[in-house]
Amino acid sequence: MYTAIGYAAQSSTTPLAPMKFERRSPRADDVAIEILYCGVCHSDIHQARNEWGIAVYPLMPGHEIVGKVTAVGANVTKHKVGDLVGVGCMVDSCRHCEACQADLEQYCLEGPTLTYATPDRVDGSNTMGGYSDSIVVSEHFVVRIPEKLDLASAAPILCAGITTYSPLKHYGVKAGDKVGILGMGGLGHMGIKFAKAMGAEVTLFTRSASKAEEARRQGADHVIVSTDAQQMKAAAGHFDFLLDTIPVQHDLNPYLDTLRFDGVHILVGLIEPVDPPLHAGNLVMSRRVLAGSLIGGIAETQEVLDFCAEHGITCDIEMLDIRQINEAYTRMIAGDVKYRFVIDMATLKL
Ligand code: NDP
Ligand code: ZN
Repeated sequence: MYTAIGYAAQSSTTPLAPMKFERRSPRADDVAIEILYCGVCHSDIHQARNEWGIAVYPLMPGHEIVGKVTAVGANVTKHKVGDLVGVGCMVDSCRHCEACQADLEQYCLEGPTLTYATPDRVDGSNTMGGYSDSIVVSEHFVVRIPEKLDLASAAPILCAGITTYSPLKHYGVKAGDKVGILGMGGLGHMGIKFAKAMGAEVTLFTRSASKAEEARRQGADHVIVSTDAQQMKAAAGHFDFLLDTIPVQHDLNPYLDTLRFDGVHILVGLIEPVDPPLHAGNLVMSRRVLAGSLIGGIAETQEVLDFCAEHGITCDIEMLDIRQINEAYTRMIAGDVKYRFVIDMATLKL
């Protein structure tokens, strides 16, 4: 064991504050990492404030981690000291179930061990995330950061990137498909870039007319202001896919109307009940599909990092001093970030 430092919430109503805590010494298959950068995901806010009802305190968020390997256990073969590596939303899984065998550790039938606020599978301790100076993770859950990528802007690929890439890939988005991205925050802006790179015609649905120009810069061909009923109506029956990153309950019905028959509405932002209710006729009458998707497996996380390096795709980030993390949360909730905060861990000192 050794003493690490980081920022954690002590309860759902207290702001994040500095904390000292114990990290384990590397086990035989572990990699110890000095964290250089960590992205700030909206899930961090949901969890710090217990909005999903599954938080465990103290809760140290952070699952878009980039850093440098400082030590490896005796059996590690994939990484070596000095390598630049990343850790995303998971740090372990059962590794033998059908999902794990299929490289879909996120759907582990026994439940993946999340990077924070989940009991470690070996010692039962509460996992602590990347708002920290270091982390110790089993090598299977550590990915390589391609040389071509800027380290800080690569961090959000570990969650925002893989979460938008994986469903677009899974549903086979291809050249000429019409794809709508709902919400342009951390996930949404990456969704635009990936859909565009896959050759789709991309439309951003946003509440904020002021984001139109920015969306086009990200690669969107069209913008629909979702609060404008006329614009929504004009898009009826148009889209093959919708990728929905909206982090709160919202009316799905007007969006479903914009799908053509056989169109697929993919939820990634919402894990609460749908409210207001879904009109089943919106699915039945046009054989539409309402789907969900959770991050992506470890092999696919490596794939998306390599895809970004190959296609010159990068996240738009605002570098953050960790002492401003609570202000950053307030700004994210107000939609005031372009488009991902990334903590510069050099600012973390107790
Ligand atoms: P951000 O806060 O960065 O972006 C969310 C965007 O949604 C906003 O920029 C805004 O876009 C839109 N939005 C926000 N509030 C509302 C509202 N009240 N009504 C309509 N639209 C709204 O969040 P992230 O991109 O980091 O995360 C999005 C969601 O995805 C979160 O719920 C997060 O927990 C979840 N998530 C899911 C994962 C998965 O595996 N399924 C993985 C990672 C995150 P605009 O201003 O353009 O309308
Ligand atoms: Zn996330």
